[in-house]
Amino acid sequence: MADLSAPVGTDPTLPELLRTHPQLSMTPTSGLTFEGVALNAIADAVGTPCWVMGAGTFKRRLRRMDQAMREAGLDVSLHYAVKANDHLAVLSLVGREGHGADIVSGGELARTQKAGIPAGRVVFSGVGKTDAELEQAIGLDIGQINVESAEELDIISAIASRLGRTARVTLRVNPDVDAKTHAKITTGLAANKFGIPFDDAAALYARAASLPGIEARGFATHIGSQILSTGPYRAAYARVAELVRSVRASGQTVSHVDCGGGLGIAYRAEAEGQPEALAASIRAELGDLGVKLAIEPGRWLAGPSGVLLSTVILRKEYGMQTPFVVTDAAMNDLLRPSMYDAWHGIVPLAPHSPGQPCAPTHVVGPVCESGDSFARDRDLPPLPRGARIAILDAGAYGAVMSSTYNSRPLAAEVLVEDGEWTVIRRRQAMEELWQDETVPAFTGGTM
Ligand SMILES: *Cc1c(COP(=O)(O)O)cnc(C)c1O
Repeated sequence: MADLSAPVGTDPTLPELLRTHPQLSMTPTSGLTFEGVALNAIADAVGTPCWVMGAGTFKRRLRRMDQAMREAGLDVSLHYAVKANDHLAVLSLVGREGHGADIVSGGELARTQKAGIPAGRVVFSGVGKTDAELEQAIGLDIGQINVESAEELDIISAIASRLGRTARVTLRVNPDVDAKTHAKITTGLAANKFGIPFDDAAALYARAASLPGIEARGFATHIGSQILSTGPYRAAYARVAELVRSVRASGQTVSHVDCGGGLGIAYRAEAEGQPEALAASIRAELGDLGVKLAIEPGRWLAGPSGVLLSTVILRKEYGMQTPFVVTDAAMNDLLRPSMYDAWHGIVPLAPHSPGQPCAPTHVVGPVCESGDSFARDRDLPPLPRGARIAILDAGAYGAVMSSTYNSRPLAAEVLVEDGEWTVIRRRQAMEELWQDETVPAFTGGTM
C-alpha cells in the first residue's frame, strides 16, 4: 500500500530538502552540518550507523507547540508521546521544559521516572495494559489513565481499590473518523482496535462514575499519526464535544478532554502539520466546554530533530540498470521505509553544490530481506564506497524501533546541543548481543 505521506513524483531536490530542514546546512568545507555541528566530525569519532538528535531543534519545536496552544487561549497540558523517542536525554528535556509524558507501557513509565518527569504529569494510554503495569502506575499515582475498554475499567477499579487509591481516568473514545493516513498508523476508525466505540462511551462513563477507586474526569481521543490536515481532527473533536455535552446533560461531571497526538511532518514534499492549525481546531470544537485540555504529540516534536548517519559499504552496478548503493545502516536500525513504505530524505555529508549532477540510485541496507531498502530511484549525487549520508527526519519512530536482527548491534546515539555533541548511547558491543543467553548442557554447550 502506498504511503500517503509520499505523493508520487514529488521528490524534493537536495537544495529543497535543505530549505525545509533549517536545522541542516551545507557548508563548503565541512559538508553537512546539523545545528552547526559537522556531521562528518561525529561520524569520524563515533562511526556509523549513528543516530544524531538535536536538542535545539527538539526544544524549539516543543516551545512552538506549547506557544501555539497558549496563543489560542487554550488551557492545555502537553504530554510528549514517549514511544516516538524514549531516550532518557529526550525525556529529561521534556521534563525540564515543564511538560509531561504520554506512555504506553510499564517500561516507558519507568523511563519517565528515571528521567525525572513527575508521575503526576504522566498519562497512560494503550489498548492492553497488564495488571502489573496498572499496579505500577496506580502505585505511583500517575496523572491519568486513558481507559480503552469496559473490561479495562473494571480491572483498574479493582486494582485501585485493592491499593487504596483512586485512579483518575478518561475514556478513550473511538470517534470512527478517517485520519487519512497510512493504514498501519490510523487508529480512530471503528475497525481499529483502539478506544471505546462512540455509541458505548456515554453509558460506560456513567458506570465509571459509580465504580470504586475511579475518578471519571472526561474523554480522550487519538485518531492516528502523520496527520497533515485539520479535517480529521475537527471531525473527531466535534464528536467528543457532542459526547461531553450529552453526558453533562444527563448530570455527569466532565472536567478533562485529551486531544491525543498525531500531527504530521514534512518527510517528502508535504506541507508540515501546523501546531497553530491544530490549536485552532481544538479551540473551535472544544474551546467553549470549560474543560482542562491535553495534547500528546510525538512525531511532530522528535521526527525532524534527528538524523541517521550511514556509510556506503559498496556499490552494485549491472550494466545500464539503476545502481544499488549498499549502506551500513539497515532496516534493523530504521524500520520505517520497510514497515510503512516511508520516504525519508537522504543527503550526502560531503560538500556539494546545487548544480552537481544527480542520477537515480537505489539505497539499500545489507540485511537479508528485499524490504531492507531506504530509497528507490532516488536522484542523488555519486555515492562511492566510503561516502556518508544522513537519512533525515529519523528522530521519531527511529532508534526506538531498532532491533538486532541479523545480529547487528544497536547503533550509537549522539546529542547535539549548543554547537557541542555528546554520545548519549554507546554503540552496542558484539558480546552484548548474547549476554542474556544461556546454552544448556544437553546441547553440548560449555558456556
Ligand atoms: C502514538 C500515540 C501518540 C503520538 O502520536 P504521534 O503521531 O507521534 O504524535 C499520542 N497518543 C497516543 C495514545 C498514541 O498511541
